[in-house]
Amino acid sequence: MEFIALDVNVGDSFVLREGDNNFVIDGGKNKNTIAKKLLKNNIVDIDVAICSHYDNDHLNGIIGMINSNKINIKELWLPDIFGDIAFTLSRNPEFAFELLKRDRLSIQSEKELTLENYLENQETIEQNDMNGQVNIFDISVLEYLWDKLNRLSSCPLFEFNADNIKYIVNIQKIISLVIHATYSGSHIRWLKYKGTLTKKRISRYYDLFALNSYEKNLQVYVKDIFYHALYVLSKINKESLVFQFEKTGLPNVLFTADSDLGFCGKQYIQLNNNSVVTAPHHGSSANSCVYQIVQGNNLIYVRSDQVTNKRPCKEYISLPVKYCTVCNTDNHKQQVTLEYDQNKQLWVSVNTTYCSCQ
Ligand SMILES: [Zn+2]
Ligand SMILES: [Zn+2]
Repeated sequence: MEFIALDVNVGDSFVLREGDNNFVIDGGKNKNTIAKKLLKNNIVDIDVAICSHYDNDHLNGIIGMINSNKINIKELWLPDIFGDIAFTLSRNPEFAFELLKRDRLSIQSEKELTLENYLENQETIEQNDMNGQVNIFDISVLEYLWDKLNRLSSCPLFEFNADNIKYIVNIQKIISLVIHATYSGSHIRWLKYKGTLTKKRISRYYDLFALNSYEKNLQVYVKDIFYHALYVLSKINKESLVFQFEKTGLPNVLFTADSDLGFCGKQYIQLNNNSVVTAPHHGSSANSCVYQIVQGNNLIYVRSDQVTNKRPCKEYISLPVKYCTVCNTDNHKQQVTLEYDQNKQLWVSVNTTYCSCQ
């Protein structure tokens, strides 16, 4: 088993290779270099590629992998909100154009900002009863919309307010992702965030368990919810999808993404000895409670992303065993590679220096 934190510079991109399986969780911020980094590690075929949430520093590289035509992705696991937005637009493309006429989106209160809260209280929504994921979107409608929005947003006659432009950009990004993913032939699974700790195996072929989500079919949003979804899209850090690798006789690998593990409530996440944990939210002080929630002996933390005044936080710095792609003591950037020696039952680092953060 091998764990890799790619040197994506900004954001997270983690690889787990176990047996014949390659898993990639997030793609970092740079769309154009991710395929090269994967190929350098001899990764051409990915069994499961996951995007934990919408932010650029996790999503862009996923788009880069799909668009590269050099990487084959068997299954793509994405937040359901991407699919719901695209599905809604393929039924109601006019929602996108109406957005350009709106002053600004009217949103309830800050409290209701998560989509989870919002949807819970709405009588929504046209359920989709299709079980297969094949041809679920009307791709020709999405392509028409893509083309039209591109032309509109570059037309000097229109003066859009900055908010509306931002939402249009979000729409374009999601449409482009869905169009390319559909053409790539990857099997897409849509995962819905759940605010409680559940351990769900998403595919029986893979030893990756979702801790705060489950697979669902797509739905068409009514108009107001569609706008709300667009609004919350880039504010749902805490609804990052969290996954745990678990297989008998092996340590776990916990992919925390940008979650604060708030979904655990008062529960702990108990890991096997020698498990690897990705530093939550790139080691930010805003997520420092995570180091208490995750329990286990001889845990190894791995942190990706840059150094800022909040990252890495003192809780991260005081951990006994950890590796960074970039430490706060110098600007040296590295790929973190850890190989698990099953006989000795320990991880061996390969061309990787120990974290020197102070
Ligand atoms: Zn992030
Ligand atoms: Zn460090």
